Formats: sequence, C-alpha cells, structure tokens
Amino acid sequence: MTILVTGGAGYIGSHAVQRLLNDGHRVVVLDNLDRGHREAVDALRGMEGVGADQLSFEAGDIADGGLVGALMRDHGVDTVMHFAALAYVGESVHEPLRYHRVNTAGAISLLEAADGAGVSRFIFSSTCATYGEPGADEIPIHEGVVQRPINPYGASKLAVERVLADYSAKQRADGKAFSYAALRYFNVAGSDPTGLIGEDHDPETHLIPVILQAALGKRDGVTIFGTDYATEDGTCVRDYIHVCDLVDAHVAVMNALEPGDARLYNLGIGRGYSVREIIDAAKRVTRKEFPVREGERRAGDPPVLYAEAGKIGRELGWKAKYTDIDEIIATAWRWFEKHPDGYAS
Ligand code: UDP
Repeated sequence: MTILVTGGAGYIGSHAVQRLLNDGHRVVVLDNLDRGHREAVDALRGMEGVGADQLSFEAGDIADGGLVGALMRDHGVDTVMHFAALAYVGESVHEPLRYHRVNTAGAISLLEAADGAGVSRFIFSSTCATYGEPGADEIPIHEGVVQRPINPYGASKLAVERVLADYSAKQRADGKAFSYAALRYFNVAGSDPTGLIGEDHDPETHLIPVILQAALGKRDGVTIFGTDYATEDGTCVRDYIHVCDLVDAHVAVMNALEPGDARLYNLGIGRGYSVREIIDAAKRVTRKEFPVREGERRAGDPPVLYAEAGKIGRELGWKAKYTDIDEIIATAWRWFEKHPDGYAS
C-alpha cells in the first residue's frame, strides 16, 4: 500500500513510518516541520532494507490543498494516516483559535484534498481528551461514553471525528467506498526500542519526557500539577500506552478497514498510573534522583483518564505488548540517554 503519513516527522508519526516501512509499504511523509524533525525521517531512510523509492518526504502543510492533492495523485496514495496536529492541553486553553485552525480546519482541508484525489481510507489520531471529565461511574472509559471535552484540544479533535462521521455517511449514501477510523489515544509514551528515533518536543510539557530531562539534569526538577485531586494519592491518573503498541494498533486497523467502515477505538492499556507513580517508576528505571515540587493544578486537566481498551482486542485481536510502566519508561530513557539534546534539527 501507499500511505500518506501527515506529521510523519513527529514523535508518533515517525514511529508509524518506521513500522510501515518495515512492513514493506510505500510511505509519503508530509510534515511542515513546525514541531517535527527532518532528522527523524532521514534516520528512517537509512534503515536497513528500506528501498530507495519506499519513502518520500514533503515539507509542507496539511492546509495546502493543492500540494496535498498533488502528492496524493502523484504517489498513488490509497490510505491517509493523519497525525499532524498540535497536542498540548495547556497550550490549547491559551490558544484556542490556533488549535481549531490547525487541528480542525487542517483536517477538513486534508479530507477535502483526499476527496478530490479519490483517496478513500483515512485513519485519524483522536484523543481521550474528547471524553472530557467522565463521571466516576464512566471510568474506565469505553467508546460509548458521551464525549464532552473540557479543553480546546479535545474539542478540536472531537470536531474532526464529527466531520468524519458526516462525510462518511454522505459517501455511504452515495454508494462510495470511503472508510475511516478514529483512534482515541490515551497517553502515548516510550520510544523505538532500537533507539533510532524518539520523542523530542519543543516546548516539552509531557510528563515522562519532562521527568527524564530532569533525570538527565537538563531541568532543575519536576513539578506535580496538583496534589489535591480526588484520587488515591491526590495526583492525576492517566493510561500510558507504548508508542510501538499504538502504531501496531494503527496497522491492525488499516489492515481491517473495509469500504464503508467507521471504526472507533480507544487506544490505551486499560490501567491508570498517577503522576507520583510515574515519577517513582522513572526513578527506579533511571536510578537518578531529582527535585520534585508540588505545584498548582494545570488548567484543563481531568483528574482520572484510563481506558476500557478491550474493544479493539475483541474486534481485531490487537493487544498491547508493553504493559509494565517501567519497561515503557526504559525505552524512552534509552533514547534520552543517547540523545540528551534530542534531534539536532
Ligand atoms: N504533569 C505534571 N507535571 C508536568 C507535566 C505533566 O504533573 O511537568 C501531569 C499533568 O497535569 C497530567 C499528567 O501529568 O495530569 C499527564 O500530562 P501530559 O502533559 O503528559 O499528558 P496529558 O494527559 O495532558 O495529555
């Protein structure tokens, strides 16, 4: 297959590209390099067994309909994996218009280009942030829980889910073969265990990389955002899924998509860890000590999010291979130790 991977120079996107190349697919990466790294794509190009014409890279924007349409036609793209997005809850609260422009309008633009080019398979990176703050009786969160996002990031992703549902209904009514999946990620963590590619965000705000940077001495410690939540230890609880398992789920979904399908899955491991538990695990894995401060709550943070993640397993036989948080953090640590300053570009 030929797959257009938007955001393929980013953290999750580059792991998807790695897997697709290893599976023998042709991959076209589209990334505006706002937050992605050209070096990640170059590293993947150099992987053993990757053919010279197997990977193409285009530095451009998903909102550039002319460019995207031409890419799809020129390369004979049959599937889109759409990772390109802004993905910080806190930032989204401060810049709602930017989040809706990049995430919502950007996805619509991409879908219009796909429509024009006759590309009929679309896999969308959604998020558990679309569920907002589920009631205690709705945890663990299954796919049927009503989506009521409490921050612009979640709202921007939910808007795209709705656009996809409307568009696919129309295509079905017209007898056209569109199919899509919206995959609601919980917290994605870890890195390629070979250490070739990894996680490098600027600014970095995600918990595990922030902790590992503190362990490396690159930060003067970690601040826990809120210790007075109604959870066992007072800190927020999240479900951390390894990026390679997440990508494996995308491949399972891609291989299963039939014309007319509209598939919705949670991607998590079905177990929650508190911020304090993650810090303790990171201390075990890195064997480093660093200052931990207790700070204010961060705007837009729901107290507890973890998945009832069995649906994709029941329907497609997918199962997470990494279920131990220490192991997940160890793969991230391998990358951070090797690349303390991240990618050079
Ligand atoms: N968090 C924290 N300190 C940090 C970064 C994150 O306490 O420096 C908390 C954050 O409030 C949330 C959890 O860690 O409860 C996971 O945050 P992250 O930004 O990694 O992912 P999110 O759940 O927002 O997608």
